[in-house]
Amino acid sequence: MNNSPLTNKNNQKEHLTKNQEIVLNLLEKSNEPLKAYSILFNLSEHGVKAPLQVYRALDKLIELGKVHKIESKNAFVACINSNCSLNSNTGFTICQQCDEVSEIHDNKIFKNLNDLAIQESSKLNRYNLELYITCKKCLK
Ligand SMILES: [Zn+2]
Ligand SMILES: [Zn+2]
Repeated sequence: MNNSPLTNKNNQKEHLTKNQEIVLNLLEKSNEPLKAYSILFNLSEHGVKAPLQVYRALDKLIELGKVHKIESKNAFVACINSNCSLNSNTGFTICQQCDEVSEIHDNKIFKNLNDLAIQESSKLNRYNLELYITCKKCLK
């Protein structure tokens, strides 16, 4: 096992195409989830002008687990965990006051949700949770 996930993640960046790298860098720098049109707007100065280029880059980055879609906002965030991959379980907290989004990881969540599914005689395959919260800053 490689115990330096950060180095790992940076190494993987080398395999990205130019457009994927630009999109990922933009999302990593952003403090909030970005919608596709604002990604496109930000990227026009880098010569990325076609929406299709942005969507293709986003699709691939999502597949690699480097970017996640916040479904309820129809927006995208960079992954903060180097272990996410396609079909990873994902969870986010979204502050209802300031819109700040954080990625959350807790192995107990899967167990608890799967227990819930078992009660319905089914099996949990994956989850994507979006929890609406008031964040620490906004509680003050
Ligand atoms: Zn992630
Ligand atoms: Zn907040």
